[in-house]
Amino acid sequence: MPRVLDGATIAAAIKQEVTEEVRALAAQGIRPGLAAVLVGHVPASEIYVRSKVQTCAELGLFSELITPPDTVTTEEMLDIVAALNDRDDIDGILIQLPLPKQVDTKALLDAVSPSKDVDGFHPVNAGRLQAGRPALAPCTPAGVIEILKRSNLPISGQHAVVVGRSDIVGKPVAMLLLHQNATVTICHSKTRDLGAVTREADILVAAIGRPGFIEPEMVKAGATLIDVGINRLTTREEFDRFFAGDAKREAAFAKRGSTIVGDVHPKAFERAGAYTPVPGGVGPLTIAMLMSNTVRAAKMRRGLD
Ligand code: NDP
Repeated sequence: MPRVLDGATIAAAIKQEVTEEVRALAAQGIRPGLAAVLVGHVPASEIYVRSKVQTCAELGLFSELITPPDTVTTEEMLDIVAALNDRDDIDGILIQLPLPKQVDTKALLDAVSPSKDVDGFHPVNAGRLQAGRPALAPCTPAGVIEILKRSNLPISGQHAVVVGRSDIVGKPVAMLLLHQNATVTICHSKTRDLGAVTREADILVAAIGRPGFIEPEMVKAGATLIDVGINRLTTREEFDRFFAGDAKREAAFAKRGSTIVGDVHPKAFERAGAYTPVPGGVGPLTIAMLMSNTVRAAKMRRGLD
């Protein structure tokens, strides 16, 4: 039976460590603070941001939610970011994506002070990460490394294949794996004979954004599968493609009218040595690493890291 890598338990351990760090900083009169900017009313974004703010409260961090209307301009957003950059009680600035079309997302992400860039999206942090210098690393990729390390799965010398090359997941996770001495291959939509490459992977990271894309025959028996994908299934046909006969999923689907599947086909997990389930694998790590990054940013800014 493959080993299930329980992201919720690992995330809880990280949050506990963050809580202890927050307590230690409080003794020095420091309270790390996170500002979350949430534009308009995108339901998924509202859920994510709400849970980030709630986690700040649970762990003892200060948080502030800023909610401009969806008519906001790039200039108005730049003013908001500039004010947050200047505030001493704010250590981390989070701009929840996606932003409305009229807002220049790149200009905005570049305007966040690299020292407060707790999402790790600023080019300065991307460059520092690549150069192996202290950097705020993107939360989901950093979470992938935590899962592997805390599960005592070897990384050094392993062949890691990352499918996906986005700036927020694929590229940074590949760089972090490289820094851990994995031999890394990055694949994308133009990769020829993808299955031949993925079958070579000791560690296969799927960050594609396509439901169940990694089929069983693309996986080497005994590999570690890290499924970053989050894809919502809403139709009966989609549901049956992945979960026909799964009574537990069936009940959840009937109740909510949807369920989520990763980028790895559930049948492919059966070939793995270990895997992250969806939900409950990589997902919970993202918020835990955001909290960890905020505390780290607070320390770095004060020369304490
Ligand atoms: P992007 O859409 O930015 O990137 C997808 C990548 O997959 C691209 O590099 C693309 O290649 C590649 N790709 C697409 N189709 C194929 C194909 N047929 N064969 C090989 N490669 C392909 O997605 P993100 O990186 O932002 O997200 C990836 C997934 O991770 C999504 O499901 C997202 O929801 C999830 N996610 C989960 C998070 C979490 O907290 N667990 C956080 C962030 C994302 P190309 O560059 O050539 O187009």
